This record gives sequence, structure tokens and C-alpha cells, in this order.
Amino acid sequence: MARAADERPPGPAAEEQLQQQHVACQVLPERLAEGKPGQGFLSSFFTNNQKCQLMLLKTLETNPYVKLLLDAMKHSGCAVNRERHFSCEDCNGNVSGGFDASTSQIVLCQNNIRNQAHMNRVVTHELIHAFDHCRAHVNWFTDVRHLACSEVRAANLSGDCSLINEIFRLHFGLKQHHQTCVRDRAILSILAVRNISKEVAQKAVDEVFESCFNDHEPFGRIPHNKTYARYAHRDFQNRDRYYSNI
Ligand SMILES: [Zn+2]
Repeated sequence: MARAADERPPGPAAEEQLQQQHVACQVLPERLAEGKPGQGFLSSFFTNNQKCQLMLLKTLETNPYVKLLLDAMKHSGCAVNRERHFSCEDCNGNVSGGFDASTSQIVLCQNNIRNQAHMNRVVTHELIHAFDHCRAHVNWFTDVRHLACSEVRAANLSGDCSLINEIFRLHFGLKQHHQTCVRDRAILSILAVRNISKEVAQKAVDEVFESCFNDHEPFGRIPHNKTYARYAHRDFQNRDRYYSNI
């Protein structure tokens, strides 16, 4: 998602990142508004915010994709704190969430995240960007290929392109549908935050696709569903245990 530069105060180490307000993300198909026309702005704000906080809590405590990513972040020296690193906010358009590299904060769009499954996917997607930000020096704003790589990984590993999501999008039936979905979503995510042509975004994604699509860290595999994610989490914990015993 894209945010105006003045919406968020710059982070402490962020001089060069002043114009780098948002690395962001997932653009979902427009959803039907479920607004309650009779409610005032404040009451709907609090309701959405409370719902967002509760769903976030449940995601952090129960979702296997997220639990693995939180462990991996901690293991890489970037422990995630719910109050410090997540922010439930109203967002423009139909954006669901974003990763703010300047503050290392994940923004959750409380007005657009509609249910627990959606929250699970958004948090997973954004945590993959946070993981990439933690493990490598990512030039989010100076090299579009870095952004493209993280978007490919997020689309590939977060469940954004899992079969059930694809069926709902009526794209089912293509043999290479997972790769196609990952590529398309990565391109859409780049276009949501960068003022570049579709051709430039496609070229960036194609240049990095093979290596980034095959980079499954920290999952070790493509977690097509929660069962795979649970196995991946178990393997990660064992891997951690193994290395810590050396
Ligand atoms: Zn993204």
C-alpha cells in the first residue's frame, strides 16, 4: 500500500528512508462493502480497531505460518513485539496491509480485513517482507528487483495463491496456476506501491522469479496449507534445536 510521506513520522534511523514510506502489499479484489450506514465514524472506528486487535491476537497465537515466521524472526535477531510492530489502521482503497520499512512496522488495514482467514493471510504476507528485511539488506526503494523478489516470496509462501483461494478467484484449472498466480500477484503488489509501468514491473518479476520462487526460507518448502505449515514449523524448531546443540 502506498502512504503519503507525511502520514507517519520517520523512524529513528530513517534519514535516507524519508521517501521510502511504504513497502507494500497485497492488493485484493475489491470486496463488497459491509458498512453499517447508521453508525457514526467513531463507533465504527472503535469496532473495526477492536476486531482487528482481536483477530491479530488469534493469528499470532494460533496460525502455524505466523508462528513459524515469528520464531524465524526471533532466531535472526529480529524478535517481533505485537504492540511495537503491528498497527491496526484505516487505509485508503482496498489495500489490506503493508510493511513500513522505515519503522519496521506492519500496518493492518482494519477497514478492509474482513475475517480471521483474511487476517491470517495478511499477517503472513507482511511478515515475509519483515523477515526479508531482517535477513538481508533490502533496497526496497532503489532496486525494484529487491521488492519484486520479496513480493514473489510473499505470494508464493503466504497462502495468497493456495488452491482454495484460487478456486474462489475462478482461476482453477491452469496447470501452472500456482506459478502464474504468484507472478501476477507480485506484479500487482509492485504496481500498488510504485509508479512504474506494468511492463517494468513484469520485467523485474521475471528477472528474479526463478531464484526467488525457489527460495522457501524460512519454511523449507511451499506451505500449501496449514498442515504443511505445521510440518514446516516442526522442522524449523528441530533445525533450531539441532544447530543450538552443536
Ligand atoms: Zn507484499
